[in-house]
Amino acid sequence: SKLGQQSLSGVSVELESVLHRYGESIAVDRVDLQINPGELVALLGPSGCGKTTLLRIVAGLITQTGGTVRIGGQQVDRLAPNERGAGIVFQSYALFPHMTVEKNVGYGLRARGASEREVNQTVHEMLEMVQMDAYARRYPRELSGGQQQRVALARTLAVHPRVLLLDEPFAALDKNLRLDMQIEIRRIQRELGITTLIVTHDQDEAMSMADRIAVMNAGVLEQFDSPEAVYDRPATRFVAGFVGTANMIEGLLVPRADGMYEFQESEGQARLAIRHPGPCSRPGSVLFAARPEHLAIEPVEAGGVYRVDGLMARVEMVLPLGPSLVYELSRQDAPGIKVVVPRTHGVPRIAVGDQVVARVRDGSPVSVFAD
Ligand code: ATP
Repeated sequence: SKLGQQSLSGVSVELESVLHRYGESIAVDRVDLQINPGELVALLGPSGCGKTTLLRIVAGLITQTGGTVRIGGQQVDRLAPNERGAGIVFQSYALFPHMTVEKNVGYGLRARGASEREVNQTVHEMLEMVQMDAYARRYPRELSGGQQQRVALARTLAVHPRVLLLDEPFAALDKNLRLDMQIEIRRIQRELGITTLIVTHDQDEAMSMADRIAVMNAGVLEQFDSPEAVYDRPATRFVAGFVGTANMIEGLLVPRADGMYEFQESEGQARLAIRHPGPCSRPGSVLFAARPEHLAIEPVEAGGVYRVDGLMARVEMVLPLGPSLVYELSRQDAPGIKVVVPRTHGVPRIAVGDQVVARVRDGSPVSVFAD
Protein backbone atom coordinates (compact mmCIF):
# COMPACT_ATOMS: atom_id res chain seq x y z
CA SER A 1 0.00 0.00 0.00
CA LYS A 2 0.93 3.67 -0.20
CA LEU A 3 1.48 3.70 3.52
CA GLY A 4 3.84 0.77 3.26
CA GLN A 5 6.30 2.80 1.18
CA GLN A 6 6.65 5.54 3.76
CA SER A 7 6.43 3.17 6.65
CA LEU A 8 8.30 4.35 9.72
CA SER A 9 10.24 1.75 11.61
CA GLY A 10 9.27 1.81 15.25
CA VAL A 11 11.76 2.67 17.94
CA SER A 12 11.89 1.67 21.58
CA VAL A 13 11.00 4.12 24.33
CA GLU A 14 12.54 3.56 27.73
CA LEU A 15 11.84 5.35 30.96
CA GLU A 16 14.24 4.72 33.77
CA SER A 17 13.32 5.78 37.26
CA VAL A 18 11.54 8.88 35.95
CA LEU A 19 10.55 11.23 38.75
CA HIS A 20 8.74 14.52 38.62
CA ARG A 21 7.89 16.98 41.35
CA TYR A 22 5.77 20.09 41.18
CA GLY A 23 7.12 21.96 44.18
CA GLU A 24 6.73 19.56 47.08
CA SER A 25 4.25 17.17 45.50
CA ILE A 26 5.36 14.16 43.51
CA ALA A 27 3.44 13.79 40.23
CA VAL A 28 5.50 10.91 38.78
CA ASP A 29 7.21 8.58 41.22
CA ARG A 30 10.23 6.73 39.81
CA VAL A 31 8.51 5.13 36.83
CA ASP A 32 10.31 2.42 34.87
CA LEU A 33 8.77 1.57 31.51
CA GLN A 34 10.20 -0.24 28.51
CA ILE A 35 8.14 0.14 25.37
CA ASN A 36 8.97 -2.04 22.38
CA PRO A 37 9.35 -0.72 18.86
CA GLY A 38 5.96 -0.41 17.16
CA GLU A 39 4.01 -0.99 20.35
CA LEU A 40 0.91 0.98 21.35
CA VAL A 41 0.93 1.57 25.09
CA ALA A 42 -1.92 3.18 27.01
CA LEU A 43 -1.15 5.20 30.13
CA LEU A 44 -4.28 4.54 32.15
CA GLY A 45 -5.29 5.98 35.49
CA PRO A 46 -7.64 8.32 37.31
CA SER A 47 -7.47 12.09 37.04
CA GLY A 48 -4.32 13.48 38.63
CA CYS A 49 -2.34 10.22 38.60
CA GLY A 50 0.47 11.79 36.57
CA LYS A 51 -0.13 10.35 33.11
CA THR A 52 -0.17 13.67 31.25
CA THR A 53 2.98 14.74 33.08
CA LEU A 54 4.67 11.51 32.00
CA LEU A 55 3.60 11.99 28.37
CA ARG A 56 4.93 15.55 28.38
CA ILE A 57 8.22 14.36 29.83
CA VAL A 58 8.61 11.95 26.90
CA ALA A 59 7.71 14.76 24.49
CA GLY A 60 10.29 17.05 26.08
CA LEU A 61 7.68 19.63 27.07
CA ILE A 62 8.50 19.06 30.74
CA THR A 63 12.00 18.44 32.06
CA GLN A 64 11.73 15.72 34.68
CA THR A 65 13.16 16.16 38.16
CA GLY A 66 15.01 12.86 37.92
CA GLY A 67 15.58 9.76 35.82
CA THR A 68 16.20 9.17 32.15
CA VAL A 69 14.21 8.87 28.92
CA ARG A 70 15.62 7.01 25.91
CA ILE A 71 14.11 6.98 22.46
CA GLY A 72 15.54 4.43 20.05
CA GLY A 73 18.27 3.71 22.58
CA GLN A 74 19.36 7.35 22.63
CA GLN A 75 19.19 9.40 25.80
CA VAL A 76 17.01 12.42 24.97
CA ASP A 77 16.90 14.24 28.32
CA ARG A 78 18.83 17.21 26.98
CA LEU A 79 17.08 17.37 23.61
CA ALA A 80 14.43 19.96 22.78
CA PRO A 81 10.99 18.62 21.78
CA ASN A 82 11.63 19.05 18.04
CA GLU A 83 14.95 17.20 18.29
CA ARG A 84 13.43 14.09 19.89
CA GLY A 85 11.33 12.89 17.01
CA ALA A 86 8.25 12.70 19.25
CA GLY A 87 5.01 14.01 17.76
CA ILE A 88 2.22 14.94 20.14
CA VAL A 89 -1.50 15.34 19.47
CA PHE A 90 -3.18 17.43 22.13
CA GLN A 91 -6.63 16.88 23.57
CA SER A 92 -7.74 20.21 22.07
CA TYR A 93 -6.10 19.36 18.67
CA ALA A 94 -4.55 22.87 18.69
CA LEU A 95 -5.01 23.42 14.94
CA PHE A 96 -4.11 26.86 13.60
CA PRO A 97 -7.53 28.47 13.10
CA HIS A 98 -6.44 30.88 10.36
CA MET A 99 -4.88 28.15 8.22
CA THR A 100 -6.61 25.73 5.87
CA VAL A 101 -6.37 22.01 6.50
CA GLU A 102 -3.56 21.60 3.96
CA LYS A 103 -1.60 24.52 5.41
CA ASN A 104 -2.01 23.06 8.89
CA VAL A 105 -0.75 19.66 7.79
CA GLY A 106 2.16 21.12 5.82
CA TYR A 107 3.18 23.54 8.55
CA GLY A 108 5.83 21.41 10.22
CA LEU A 109 7.53 20.45 6.97
CA ARG A 110 7.56 24.06 5.71
CA ALA A 111 9.02 25.20 9.03
CA ARG A 112 11.82 22.72 8.41
CA GLY A 113 12.48 24.13 4.99
CA ALA A 114 11.15 21.21 2.94
CA SER A 115 10.61 21.90 -0.76
CA GLU A 116 7.09 22.82 -1.94
CA ARG A 117 7.00 19.61 -3.93
CA GLU A 118 7.81 17.50 -0.86
CA VAL A 119 5.33 19.42 1.26
CA ASN A 120 2.53 18.98 -1.27
CA GLN A 121 3.21 15.31 -1.73
CA THR A 122 3.36 14.58 2.00
CA VAL A 123 0.25 16.66 2.74
CA HIS A 124 -1.62 14.73 0.08
CA GLU A 125 -0.47 11.37 1.43
CA MET A 126 -1.30 12.30 5.01
CA LEU A 127 -4.75 13.61 4.19
CA GLU A 128 -5.45 10.48 2.19
CA MET A 129 -4.33 8.34 5.12
CA VAL A 130 -6.75 10.03 7.51
CA GLN A 131 -9.43 10.19 4.79
CA MET A 132 -9.56 13.97 4.75
CA ASP A 133 -8.27 14.71 1.25
CA ALA A 134 -11.66 16.13 0.26
CA TYR A 135 -11.35 18.79 2.97
CA ALA A 136 -7.91 20.21 2.13
CA ARG A 137 -9.19 23.75 1.47
CA ARG A 138 -11.39 24.03 4.54
CA TYR A 139 -10.64 25.85 7.75
CA PRO A 140 -10.69 24.09 11.13
CA ARG A 141 -13.92 25.84 12.18
CA GLU A 142 -15.63 24.23 9.16
CA LEU A 143 -14.86 20.74 10.44
CA SER A 144 -16.49 18.41 12.98
CA GLY A 145 -14.59 17.32 16.08
CA GLY A 146 -13.65 13.98 14.54
CA GLN A 147 -12.46 15.66 11.34
CA GLN A 148 -10.37 18.14 13.31
CA GLN A 149 -8.79 15.26 15.11
CA ARG A 150 -7.90 13.53 11.85
CA VAL A 151 -6.25 16.73 10.65
CA ALA A 152 -4.35 17.09 13.93
CA LEU A 153 -3.11 13.52 13.55
CA ALA A 154 -2.10 14.13 9.91
CA ARG A 155 -0.25 17.28 10.94
CA THR A 156 1.67 15.44 13.63
CA LEU A 157 2.52 12.47 11.38
CA ALA A 158 3.56 14.67 8.43
CA VAL A 159 6.98 15.34 9.95
CA HIS A 160 7.55 11.58 10.40
CA PRO A 161 7.98 11.43 14.17
CA ARG A 162 9.63 8.33 15.62
CA VAL A 163 7.14 8.25 18.45
CA LEU A 164 3.48 9.28 18.48
CA LEU A 165 2.07 10.74 21.71
CA LEU A 166 -1.68 11.14 22.12
CA ASP A 167 -3.12 13.01 25.10
CA GLU A 168 -6.74 11.97 25.75
CA PRO A 169 -7.33 12.10 21.99
CA PHE A 170 -10.99 11.14 22.12
CA ALA A 171 -12.13 13.29 25.02
CA ALA A 172 -14.02 15.74 22.82
CA LEU A 173 -15.81 13.11 20.71
CA ASP A 174 -19.18 11.50 21.28
CA LYS A 175 -19.33 7.79 22.00
CA ASN A 176 -19.88 6.43 18.48
CA LEU A 177 -17.33 8.67 16.83
CA ARG A 178 -14.92 7.83 19.61
CA LEU A 179 -15.17 4.14 18.74
CA ASP A 180 -14.63 4.85 15.02
CA MET A 181 -11.59 6.99 15.75
CA GLN A 182 -10.13 4.39 18.10
CA ILE A 183 -10.27 1.83 15.32
CA GLU A 184 -8.99 4.33 12.77
CA ILE A 185 -6.01 5.44 14.82
CA ARG A 186 -5.16 1.86 15.68
CA ARG A 187 -5.22 1.00 11.95
CA ILE A 188 -2.93 3.87 11.02
CA GLN A 189 -0.62 3.14 13.95
CA ARG A 190 -0.31 -0.51 12.90
CA GLU A 191 0.28 0.34 9.26
CA LEU A 192 3.02 2.82 10.12
CA GLY A 193 4.42 0.61 12.86
CA ILE A 194 4.95 3.76 14.90
CA THR A 195 5.61 3.40 18.62
CA THR A 196 2.69 5.13 20.33
CA LEU A 197 1.81 6.30 23.82
CA ILE A 198 -1.77 7.24 24.51
CA VAL A 199 -3.04 8.85 27.70
CA THR A 200 -6.53 7.86 28.80
CA HIS A 201 -8.64 7.53 31.91
CA ASP A 202 -11.05 5.25 30.04
CA GLN A 203 -10.32 1.60 30.72
CA ASP A 204 -12.38 0.35 27.76
CA GLU A 205 -10.36 2.56 25.46
CA ALA A 206 -7.10 1.27 26.90
CA MET A 207 -8.35 -2.33 26.69
CA SER A 208 -9.49 -2.11 23.09
CA MET A 209 -6.55 -0.18 21.66
CA ALA A 210 -3.38 -1.03 23.53
CA ASP A 211 -0.82 -3.80 23.14
CA ARG A 212 0.06 -3.13 26.75
CA ILE A 213 -1.43 -0.96 29.46
CA ALA A 214 0.53 1.00 32.06
CA VAL A 215 -1.82 1.53 35.00
CA MET A 216 -0.88 4.51 37.14
CA ASN A 217 -2.06 5.62 40.55
CA ALA A 218 -0.81 8.68 42.44
CA GLY A 219 2.32 8.90 40.31
CA VAL A 220 3.19 5.22 40.73
CA LEU A 221 3.17 2.63 37.96
CA GLU A 222 1.02 -0.14 39.46
CA GLN A 223 1.09 -2.61 36.57
CA PHE A 224 2.45 -2.79 33.03
CA ASP A 225 0.94 -5.70 31.19
CA SER A 226 -1.25 -6.89 28.34
CA PRO A 227 -4.93 -5.90 28.56
CA GLU A 228 -5.83 -9.52 29.35
CA ALA A 229 -3.34 -9.72 32.21
CA VAL A 230 -4.40 -6.37 33.66
CA TYR A 231 -7.98 -7.56 33.58
CA ASP A 232 -7.59 -11.16 34.70
CA ARG A 233 -4.56 -10.86 36.94
CA PRO A 234 -4.49 -7.39 38.48
CA ALA A 235 -1.20 -6.91 40.29
CA THR A 236 -2.54 -4.65 43.01
CA ARG A 237 -5.85 -3.97 44.69
CA PHE A 238 -5.87 -0.55 43.04
CA VAL A 239 -5.78 -2.16 39.60
CA ALA A 240 -8.47 -4.66 40.60
CA GLY A 241 -10.72 -1.83 41.72
CA PHE A 242 -9.98 0.63 38.93
CA VAL A 243 -10.14 -1.78 36.00
CA GLY A 244 -13.44 -3.62 35.73
CA THR A 245 -14.59 -2.81 39.27
CA ALA A 246 -14.18 -6.15 40.98
CA ASN A 247 -16.20 -7.38 43.94
CA MET A 248 -13.95 -7.01 46.99
CA ILE A 249 -14.40 -9.01 50.16
CA GLU A 250 -12.24 -9.16 53.31
CA GLY A 251 -11.39 -12.50 54.84
CA LEU A 252 -8.89 -15.26 55.43
CA LEU A 253 -6.96 -17.39 52.99
CA VAL A 254 -6.61 -20.97 54.22
CA PRO A 255 -4.66 -23.74 52.46
CA ARG A 256 -6.55 -27.02 51.95
CA ALA A 257 -5.26 -30.58 52.07
CA ASP A 258 -5.95 -31.07 48.33
CA GLY A 259 -3.58 -28.26 47.30
CA MET A 260 -6.35 -25.76 46.70
CA TYR A 261 -7.13 -22.80 48.91
CA GLU A 262 -10.23 -21.68 50.65
CA PHE A 263 -11.29 -18.11 51.15
CA GLN A 264 -13.28 -17.61 54.34
CA GLU A 265 -15.14 -14.38 54.72
CA SER A 266 -14.65 -12.58 58.01
CA GLU A 267 -18.26 -11.45 58.24
CA GLY A 268 -20.98 -13.63 56.85
CA GLN A 269 -20.53 -17.33 56.31
CA ALA A 270 -19.06 -17.45 52.86
CA ARG A 271 -16.42 -19.94 51.88
CA LEU A 272 -15.02 -20.15 48.39
CA ALA A 273 -12.69 -22.73 46.94
CA ILE A 274 -9.86 -21.10 45.00
CA ARG A 275 -7.46 -22.89 42.70
CA HIS A 276 -4.94 -20.15 41.94
CA PRO A 277 -4.96 -17.25 44.33
CA GLY A 278 -2.90 -14.46 42.81
CA PRO A 279 -0.92 -12.32 43.48
CA CYS A 280 -0.90 -13.47 47.14
CA SER A 281 -0.99 -17.08 48.27
CA ARG A 282 0.25 -16.49 51.78
CA PRO A 283 -2.30 -17.81 54.27
CA GLY A 284 -3.79 -15.17 56.51
CA SER A 285 -5.77 -12.01 56.30
CA VAL A 286 -6.53 -11.08 52.67
CA LEU A 287 -8.72 -9.10 50.32
CA PHE A 288 -10.52 -11.28 47.79
CA ALA A 289 -11.38 -9.76 44.42
CA ALA A 290 -13.52 -11.31 41.68
CA ARG A 291 -14.88 -9.71 38.51
CA PRO A 292 -18.66 -9.84 38.18
CA GLU A 293 -18.37 -12.10 35.12
CA HIS A 294 -16.07 -14.51 36.92
CA LEU A 295 -18.82 -15.48 39.33
CA ALA A 296 -21.74 -17.78 38.60
CA ILE A 297 -25.01 -17.97 40.49
CA GLU A 298 -27.57 -20.66 41.06
CA PRO A 299 -30.87 -20.57 42.84
CA VAL A 300 -31.23 -21.99 46.33
CA GLU A 301 -34.47 -23.93 46.77
CA ALA A 302 -36.65 -22.67 49.61
CA GLY A 303 -36.06 -25.05 52.48
CA GLY A 304 -33.15 -26.58 50.57
CA VAL A 305 -29.92 -27.71 52.13
CA TYR A 306 -27.86 -24.77 53.35
CA ARG A 307 -24.52 -24.73 51.61
CA VAL A 308 -21.50 -22.96 52.96
CA ASP A 309 -19.34 -23.23 49.84
CA GLY A 310 -20.31 -20.05 48.12
CA LEU A 311 -21.67 -16.62 48.82
CA MET A 312 -25.30 -16.78 49.95
CA ALA A 313 -27.18 -13.76 48.73
CA ARG A 314 -30.51 -12.29 47.76
CA VAL A 315 -31.22 -10.86 44.32
CA GLU A 316 -31.96 -7.14 44.60
CA MET A 317 -31.95 -6.22 40.95
CA VAL A 318 -31.60 -7.75 37.51
CA LEU A 319 -30.36 -5.37 34.81
CA PRO A 320 -30.28 -6.35 31.15
CA LEU A 321 -27.04 -4.94 29.75
CA GLY A 322 -26.69 -5.72 26.05
CA PRO A 323 -25.62 -9.35 25.70
CA SER A 324 -25.49 -9.88 29.47
CA LEU A 325 -27.61 -9.79 32.60
CA VAL A 326 -26.26 -8.02 35.65
CA TYR A 327 -27.41 -9.32 39.02
CA GLU A 328 -27.11 -7.04 42.04
CA LEU A 329 -26.98 -9.22 45.13
CA SER A 330 -27.28 -8.21 48.75
CA ARG A 331 -26.07 -10.16 51.76
CA GLN A 332 -26.81 -9.94 55.44
CA ASP A 333 -24.11 -8.02 57.34
CA ALA A 334 -21.77 -8.28 54.38
CA PRO A 335 -20.99 -6.22 51.29
CA GLY A 336 -23.23 -6.71 48.27
CA ILE A 337 -21.86 -8.29 45.12
CA LYS A 338 -22.40 -8.05 41.40
CA VAL A 339 -22.58 -10.99 39.02
CA VAL A 340 -22.70 -10.72 35.24
CA VAL A 341 -24.10 -13.64 33.28
CA PRO A 342 -23.80 -13.70 29.48
CA ARG A 343 -27.19 -14.52 27.95
CA THR A 344 -25.53 -17.22 25.85
CA HIS A 345 -24.87 -19.20 29.03
CA GLY A 346 -28.54 -20.10 29.22
CA VAL A 347 -29.89 -17.56 31.63
CA PRO A 348 -30.81 -19.14 34.96
CA ARG A 349 -34.40 -18.72 36.10
CA ILE A 350 -33.69 -16.20 38.81
CA ALA A 351 -35.81 -13.23 39.82
CA VAL A 352 -35.66 -10.34 42.21
CA GLY A 353 -36.12 -11.56 45.79
CA ASP A 354 -34.72 -15.05 45.14
CA GLN A 355 -32.06 -16.58 47.36
CA VAL A 356 -28.99 -17.55 45.37
CA VAL A 357 -25.50 -18.85 45.91
CA ALA A 358 -22.58 -17.30 44.02
CA ARG A 359 -19.38 -19.17 43.29
CA VAL A 360 -16.24 -18.63 41.28
CA ARG A 361 -16.96 -19.77 37.74
CA ASP A 362 -14.90 -22.82 36.76
CA GLY A 363 -11.50 -21.82 35.47
CA SER A 364 -12.06 -18.14 36.16
CA PRO A 365 -9.26 -16.08 37.58
CA VAL A 366 -9.76 -14.46 40.97
CA SER A 367 -7.28 -12.35 42.85
CA VAL A 368 -6.26 -12.41 46.46
CA PHE A 369 -4.29 -9.52 47.91
CA ALA A 370 -2.41 -9.52 51.17
CA ASP A 371 -4.21 -7.37 53.72
P1 ATP B 1 -5.87 14.31 34.20
O1 ATP B 1 -6.40 13.05 33.63
O2 ATP B 1 -6.83 15.00 35.12
O3 ATP B 1 -5.25 15.23 33.18
P2 ATP B 1 -3.27 13.26 34.89
O4 ATP B 1 -3.25 11.85 35.33
O5 ATP B 1 -2.87 13.54 33.50
O6 ATP B 1 -4.68 13.90 35.20
P3 ATP B 1 -1.27 15.17 35.64
O7 ATP B 1 -1.86 16.26 34.83
O8 ATP B 1 -0.02 14.56 35.15
O9 ATP B 1 -2.32 14.03 35.90
O10 ATP B 1 -1.04 15.71 37.11
C1 ATP B 1 -0.43 14.93 38.13
C2 ATP B 1 -0.42 15.71 39.42
O11 ATP B 1 0.41 16.85 39.32
C3 ATP B 1 -1.77 16.24 39.84
O12 ATP B 1 -1.88 16.12 41.24
C4 ATP B 1 -1.74 17.68 39.41
O13 ATP B 1 -2.56 18.47 40.24
C5 ATP B 1 -0.30 18.04 39.56
N1 ATP B 1 0.13 19.05 38.56
C6 ATP B 1 0.01 18.95 37.22
N2 ATP B 1 0.52 20.01 36.61
C7 ATP B 1 0.97 20.84 37.58
C8 ATP B 1 1.63 22.12 37.59
N3 ATP B 1 1.94 22.74 36.45
N4 ATP B 1 1.94 22.63 38.79
C9 ATP B 1 1.66 22.00 39.92
N5 ATP B 1 1.04 20.80 39.99
C10 ATP B 1 0.72 20.22 38.84
